[in-house]
Amino acid sequence: MTQNIAGFVDANFPMAARLAADLGGPPVFLDRDTVMAAIGEGTIGAAKGLRDFVYITVSTGVGGAIVSGGRMVRGVSNTAGELGHFPVSLDRDVRCRCGSFGCVEAYAAGRNLAEAYGVADASIVYANAAAGDDRASALIARAEAALANLAVGVVNALNPERIVVGGSIAEHEPAHVLEPMRRAIAERAFKVPAAAVSVVPSMLRGDVSIVGSALAARDRASGKGQWFL
Ligand SMILES: [Zn+2]
Repeated sequence: MTQNIAGFVDANFPMAARLAADLGGPPVFLDRDTVMAAIGEGTIGAAKGLRDFVYITVSTGVGGAIVSGGRMVRGVSNTAGELGHFPVSLDRDVRCRCGSFGCVEAYAAGRNLAEAYGVADASIVYANAAAGDDRASALIARAEAALANLAVGVVNALNPERIVVGGSIAEHEPAHVLEPMRRAIAERAFKVPAAAVSVVPSMLRGDVSIVGSALAARDRASGKGQWFL
């Protein structure tokens, strides 16, 4: 998304073609980091062999990718799976960088948490909440509620077998990310899909997108195309 790259204003810039020309050799493929992460987890990670799963990252931003029936869900313009911009609130005052309001990212992303609290890094918000600071605790409760709503929506709408949750905040603060998602699914998602799904941490962790990229490049180069039809 262009709004996540400072100074990068042309959404139609032919980046893959320009890189390929500059490198003068191998073919270049361009894709989202979350799609690469899902390929990594689905091939050798926490969703290995599963045909229906969702990858969600909770990090600087919130993002995702959807695999349904063994295929990456792409949508007609290749933007499907941008779960960070699923609206979880009607509050117009909670603006999101995407131009909308009430997105889960606007509540739960590390960058947004840090900005709302007035510090440089979200880890300070979590540390201060743990130390009993009311304002930090309220922001984190709001982030948890947003992630909980997203989890219920994902389960009810997509009926995945697994939700793999990665990203630095999920990795460092699972009690504030995976646990509220699990609780909300158990409490108020439809019973049949709730019974079928598990919410698990990323297995490939910080390497998930780079590992997925390597696997994806291998598949593309060999013409396999399991993820790219
Ligand atoms: Zn948004």
